[in-house]
Amino acid sequence: MRCIFASVIVSILCILTTNIALAYLPVQRVGVSVDFLEVGQGDAILLQTPTGRRVLIDTGPKSDVLLEELSRVLPPFVNALDMVFLTHSDQDHIGGTLALLDHMEVGEIVLNDEVEQREGIREILAKAQRKGITVTHARKDQDLRVEVGVYLDLLTPLETPVAPDANNHSLVLMLVLPTDRLLLMGDAEEIVEKALLKEGSPLRAAFLKGGHHGSKTSSGSNFLQAVSPKAVTFQNGVNNTYGHPSPEVLSRLAALGMTVYNTSIDGGIHLQCPPKTPCTITTEHRAQSP
Ligand SMILES: [Zn+2]
Repeated sequence: MRCIFASVIVSILCILTTNIALAYLPVQRVGVSVDFLEVGQGDAILLQTPTGRRVLIDTGPKSDVLLEELSRVLPPFVNALDMVFLTHSDQDHIGGTLALLDHMEVGEIVLNDEVEQREGIREILAKAQRKGITVTHARKDQDLRVEVGVYLDLLTPLETPVAPDANNHSLVLMLVLPTDRLLLMGDAEEIVEKALLKEGSPLRAAFLKGGHHGSKTSSGSNFLQAVSPKAVTFQNGVNNTYGHPSPEVLSRLAALGMTVYNTSIDGGIHLQCPPKTPCTITTEHRAQSP
């Protein structure tokens, strides 16, 4: 009996030790990585570079979920972000920001000054000021260098806003890498897509984070054909009440032969971009790459 008890204890200790070791093992990946975090119905996207530059684009709806997800993808003991982009003022994109500023060192916040006076943003800016965080007001056609060979190009704010709502004031960002491009649409809708097409913005990208979680008001056919991505990602909650992504958008994407990844089905989505070869996608729940 005593022998069985001892072997059970030894087994438990072995499992615990292995799990702790795995949890703290540094993740050795080559190149730039982009993680579409599983934060429920909302966006939070972490970009990490080989030299340790870290950029978060949106902070999801809830701080506890954001911080847990960040701890899953950040290397152990890393507690700082170089830049945080807030694409617009909706809660599902800024909900984790106040707690994030309390728990992590943030170097710079980038936002569209059109949304500065909106509810939620004012409190964030007041806290940023108290903490001495740089606040950068986004300008169209700014190319923000993350590090050599890694740029975030701003395709908005549009010179003439096309609609008064927060979604259509979203910052639209193009991540430009030596091998690939990723277009991040925030919650911009078809009206912004059409404006970008009309302006002749450089939209072509191998990967697209579709606008507004796959709402039928975004991801128009002409726009999708101009971007021509091989894969499209959405961040949604399981059984969300909005019905995102919409069946219309999914059938448009299927008709164009684009692979869809959705955090509500796939869990966390990981894009890995080696220095000289195209990016590949893996997810928590399926390993597949277009
Ligand atoms: Zn949203």
